[in-house]
Amino acid sequence: MKLTNRSKVVSNKEQSFTERLYLPGIIKGMAITGSHLFKRRATVKYPDELRPIAAVYRGQHVLKRDENGAERCTACGLCAVACPAEAITMESAERKKGEEGLYREEKYAKTYEINMLRCIFCGLCEEACPKEAIFLTDRIVDTEYEREDFVYGKDKLVEKVDKRIDVSKRQTLEVAEFKKIPGLKHNEVWKGNKLK
Ligand code: SF4
Ligand code: SF4
Repeated sequence: MKLTNRSKVVSNKEQSFTERLYLPGIIKGMAITGSHLFKRRATVKYPDELRPIAAVYRGQHVLKRDENGAERCTACGLCAVACPAEAITMESAERKKGEEGLYREEKYAKTYEINMLRCIFCGLCEEACPKEAIFLTDRIVDTEYEREDFVYGKDKLVEKVDKRIDVSKRQTLEVAEFKKIPGLKHNEVWKGNKLK
């Protein structure tokens, strides 16, 4: 039974002398290749050359520190629950006395990992986070040779104290306004050994 009219009868005719030489085919192929030399390149020489990206491009995550340099993440797990790709895993630990300058909350992420091969850069982790601890940035995830190198731990995710990453572009107007309200626990920062 014939379902469509798209079938083609394959020719079984003998090749001519010129066809057996393959010369016309080779010349035709070279002409196509040659014509591409004068066309605009579709590729760029990354990483030396970068394509322009949108201001709200979602790339490699950052785990933020607060104004005093303490890690904001409290290992609540909401980002992991929100992640549709199940790319986030973490282990929590209790903050000890004297570690207030290191970790903002009483609980912190002892380990925090994102599998960049699983991640689809949807940004839902960022939306779910109640502590403004995780943001996606405009950084492109590095290429690697080994699969395990794509599992990013805190060493790659937490921002460096002396090399802060600006995420203001990713904060909505509502969040920016909320952060200006004094007296809210979320907006408090450690001064001395007290949150103020
Ligand atoms: S960006 Fe999306 S997929 Fe990637 S870790 Fe966050 S929630 Fe998961
Ligand atoms: S990044 Fe945010 S949502 Fe995820 S565990 Fe830390 S505080 Fe919770």
